[in-house]
Amino acid sequence: MGEPAYRRVVIKVSGESLAGDQAFGIHQPTLDRIAGDLVKARELGVEIAVVVGGGNIFRGVEVSSRGVSRTTGDTMGMLATVMNCLALESALERRGQSTRTLTALVMPQVSELFTRAAAHRYLAEGRIVLLAGGTGNPYFTTDTTAVLRAAEIGAQAVLKATNVDGVYSADPKKDKSATRFERLTHSQAVEGGYKVMDATAFALARETALPIIVFSVAEPGSIGAILNGKGRGTLVAG
Ligand code: UDP
Repeated sequence: MGEPAYRRVVIKVSGESLAGDQAFGIHQPTLDRIAGDLVKARELGVEIAVVVGGGNIFRGVEVSSRGVSRTTGDTMGMLATVMNCLALESALERRGQSTRTLTALVMPQVSELFTRAAAHRYLAEGRIVLLAGGTGNPYFTTDTTAVLRAAEIGAQAVLKATNVDGVYSADPKKDKSATRFERLTHSQAVEGGYKVMDATAFALARETALPIIVFSVAEPGSIGAILNGKGRGTLVAG
């Protein structure tokens, strides 16, 4: 097995990937498997911060289409990420992995507020740090949060774990002629308007020179494989 390519990474786990085959909520066996993959990845010696999405519970845009204001919908989405984080924290702790959830929203009874100092400290202690609450601001996504936090804590890459094995020219579930990119530049990713990740996230990654690897977490062991440079995905860099 090769040496992991990175010392510290941010892994973005979408809410959708926690739902497994369900349309909504958390599929416990899938959550447990992803937790197991994260523990194995940590055992490679890589420091891991995880930004968790919330789309399996609430997305601001969808909630606001039902008559709630966009900012309230986005707050509901951010709270959904907190619930997912708590579920993932429990799954990791059950495996004996020490973790710490840091949130962008002030909720002292639930978890500590995110600060760079706290993240550095817990990562150095070998804990998996879970980042809840997105950026703490409406109109952003957890993809953008992942890139922002990676830049803030000096991570070398963002691993975007999703249900597809990379960036495609079109939605591969809807368009049979869609082709997968092995590699894209940040500018190509921004300009391509690909649905898998939002343009704000790609633009911030370009600004901060952070590579992003988009890959499928549906494959068991895929996080470790990506860290060892052997996984299948799309590298967005340069
Ligand atoms: N959200 C937000 N600000 C943030 C991050 C997330 O308002 O900084 C809200 C937004 O409504 C979003 C929801 O939280 O739709 C869930 O996050 P996201 O859609 O990124 O989750 P994922 O698609 O990864 O499951």
